[in-house]
Amino acid sequence: MSDTDILIVGGGLSGTMLAVQLLRLPGSRRIRVIEPRSELGRGEAYSATELGHTLNGNAARMSVDPDNPDDLTQWLEQYLASGGWPEAAQQAVPVAELFPPRGIFGLYVQQRLAEAQAVGAHYGSSVEHIRAEVVDVRTGSESVTLQLSDDRVLHGAFAVLATGMFAAARTAQRQSSGLNAAAVDPWDVQAMRRIDPRGRVVIIGSGLTMVDALESLQQAGHRGPIDVYSRHGLLPHVRRQLPAWVDFLALDHTLRSPRQVMRALREQCRQAQAAGIDWQAPLDTVRVHIARLWSQASERQKRQFVRHVRPWWESHHHRSPPQGAALLERLQREGRLHVHAASLQGLEAVAGEPVSVRLRFRGEDRSRVVSAAALINSTGIEYDWRRVARPLPQRLLERGLVQPGPLALGIAADAGGAVVDAGGVVSTRLFAMGPPLRGMWWESTAVTDVALQAKALAARLVL
Ligand SMILES: Cc1cc2nc3c(=O)[nH]c(=O)nc-3n(C[C@H](O)[C@H](O)[C@H](O)COP(=O)(O)OP(=O)(O)OC[C@H]3O[C@@H](n4cnc5c(N)ncnc54)[C@H](O)[C@@H]3O)c2cc1C
Repeated sequence: MSDTDILIVGGGLSGTMLAVQLLRLPGSRRIRVIEPRSELGRGEAYSATELGHTLNGNAARMSVDPDNPDDLTQWLEQYLASGGWPEAAQQAVPVAELFPPRGIFGLYVQQRLAEAQAVGAHYGSSVEHIRAEVVDVRTGSESVTLQLSDDRVLHGAFAVLATGMFAAARTAQRQSSGLNAAAVDPWDVQAMRRIDPRGRVVIIGSGLTMVDALESLQQAGHRGPIDVYSRHGLLPHVRRQLPAWVDFLALDHTLRSPRQVMRALREQCRQAQAAGIDWQAPLDTVRVHIARLWSQASERQKRQFVRHVRPWWESHHHRSPPQGAALLERLQREGRLHVHAASLQGLEAVAGEPVSVRLRFRGEDRSRVVSAAALINSTGIEYDWRRVARPLPQRLLERGLVQPGPLALGIAADAGGAVVDAGGVVSTRLFAMGPPLRGMWWESTAVTDVALQAKALAARLVL
C-alpha cells in the first residue's frame, strides 16, 4: 500500500529541485525525500564550508529556474543587500558576474525549496525529509518499496533515484587502489588544516577538485611544495566573461559525428580568435547540443570520444573560477606548484616517509616512487556503479532493476528518465535524474542540466 506519491532518493540539488518543481504544480501530492544529510539542497557540491570553494560559473549562468536565467542573480542581490557574503565586495564586479561560494548557493536552493513549500501547501502538497540511506528498492506493478538503513520501509507510487555523484575521494570502491585510505579528503576542511604546513603535498588529479584542494591548502597556511599528477597533466582553463557567438551547430544540421563537430568547432575557435574574441565563446555554444550529439553517436564514437577527447573536453569545458585559476597561476609562478603528466601505479611503503606513491611518467617506461607529507585524491567522479561499494547501487544491479548506462557511465534510462532494467524493460515506477544519467547525456551534472531535468521529470510524474 503506497502512502506517498513520490519518493525521492537523495536530497542534493537534483532531489531538491525535483521536489521544488513538483510542489509548484497544481494538485495535491505527498513527497518524501530520503537523504542522510541534515539539510536538503546541499548534497556533495553545496555542503562546502570553505568560501574559496566557489561555483565554476558566475551567477548569470547558474540559475536553478529554467524559466528565469536571472534567478540566482536576483536572489544574490537580496542576499548581499541583507549583509550576506560581505567578501563579495572585494571582487568589484556586477552581481551577475560574481562566482558565489558553493555553500551560499546551497542557501539559495534551500530558499527556493521553502518558497515552493508555501506554494505547495495551497494545493495540499507537502514534502518531508527522512534522514536515512536507502539500501534497497523493490518495484511492483502499482508501487515502489524502499528499504532504509534504519530498517524502515517506505511505499510510494513512484521513486526517483537522485543519488548524485560518487566523488572518487569519498567513495568506497570495489577493487580499491587503496588511494582513499592513504589520502586526505580534499573537502574535509579540518583534515586539510592538519597537513604539515611546510611538507610536500602530492595531488593525484588535475581538475576542479584539485583547485578546491589548493584553496583549502592556502587557507590552512600551507607553504610547502605541491606536485600535481594526472595522466595528461592538463589543467582546467580559467572561465572568462564571454561575448555572444553564433550557434553554428543550430545553423548546420549536417554536423553530427564527433569528428565533424570537432573540426567545425576548431574552425569556429580560429575565427573567434582572429576576430579578437575568445575561443571559449564558440565552445560554449556547443553546450545546448551535447545531449543530442551524444545520444546520436554510436557506441564506437562514444568510446573514441572518451578515450581521445575527454581529457581536453574536461580541461576546456569544465573551467576554473577566476579566483582558483589566479591562485594556481601564482603558485606556479612562485615555483611552489608543479604539474606532471604521470599515472598512479599504486601506493608504496617507504621507511620514514608519511606517504609514497609509484607513478609512471608520460613517455617513460620505468615508474618512480614519490614521497610526500600528504596525499590528496582529486581524481574526480566514479560514474561506474559496478565499482561503487554502496548498498543501493549494488542491490539495484544485483536485482537487475537497473543496467549500466552507455560505457558503464551511470545507469540506462529512457529519454524522460525512466530507468531501464537488466532485461531492457523501461520501468513505469522507477526514475533517475542528474549524474546517474551521465552515460545517457554525457553532460548530466551541472546546475543547469539538473534544473532542466527536474522540471521535465516533475511534469512527467504528475501526468
Ligand atoms: C565538489 C563539486 C563541485 C561542483 N561544482 C559545480 C559547479 O560549480 N557548477 C555546476 O554546474 N556543477 C557543479 N557540480 C556538479 C554537481 O554535482 C551538480 O550541480 C549537483 O550538485 C548534482 O546534484 P545531485 O543532487 O544530483 O548530486 P549530489 O550533490 O551528489 O547529491 C546527491 C545526494 O544523494 C544522497 N544519496 C546518495 N545515495 C543515497 C541513498 N542510497 N539514499 C539516500 N540518499 C542518498 C547523498 O547523500 C547526496 O546528498 C559540482 C559537483 C561537485 C561534487
